[in-house]
Amino acid sequence: MNTTKKDKGILLVVSGPSGAGKGTICAAIRKIFPKLNYSISMTTRAPRKGEVEGTSYFFRTNEEFEKLIKEDAFLEYARVYDHYYGTPKKYALDKIENGESVLLEIDIQGAMQVKQRYPQGVFVYVVPPSLDVLSARIHGRGTDSEEVIQKRLAKITDELAMAHKYDYIIVNDVLEDAVHKVCSILEAESCKLSRN
Ligand code: 5GP
Repeated sequence: MNTTKKDKGILLVVSGPSGAGKGTICAAIRKIFPKLNYSISMTTRAPRKGEVEGTSYFFRTNEEFEKLIKEDAFLEYARVYDHYYGTPKKYALDKIENGESVLLEIDIQGAMQVKQRYPQGVFVYVVPPSLDVLSARIHGRGTDSEEVIQKRLAKITDELAMAHKYDYIIVNDVLEDAVHKVCSILEAESCKLSRN
């Protein structure tokens, strides 16, 4: 269809408590939609085994990160479990302006900042089916100390209360079903008449 004004891309924000499975869902979505741009976050935490600079994250020092905060280089940023995490602003906004869609996988504080700055985004909240499942998932990853795990679990009740601020909620019980739902959301949003 010939439109005089170019449509903007979709900013799809997938968020939720740590251990809800948003990373696994996003990895599957990226395989299904290889043209969907993925925003690589910046963090001050140390790389984990197998993580690659510029693919998993951009790993930076505290000083470098704080300099970028002052330069207003982030669409959002947050302190998550004692480290900074942030979404570089330019990459995501340039793509969207150009009509391309962008996927962000970020924590809840970050998603709420994006909602303030870019309310046209599509906000998806992923929740685990139960607290027991969440605890088992976080322990099963084997990447965090017991202290960090307990901090993450203690935050969960407050985090679940944020669900109403999102456009969609997905209970990640069966992974394939959750992935299918996010795909359906993306397809439905791309058919919307007005998004700008
Ligand atoms: P991890 O250290 O396990 O990779 O990530 C910890 C948490 O930080 C996860 O909930 C993840 O979604 C979140 N996160 C990753 N990147 C960003 C980001 O750019 N901004 C915010 N606010 N959170 C992020």
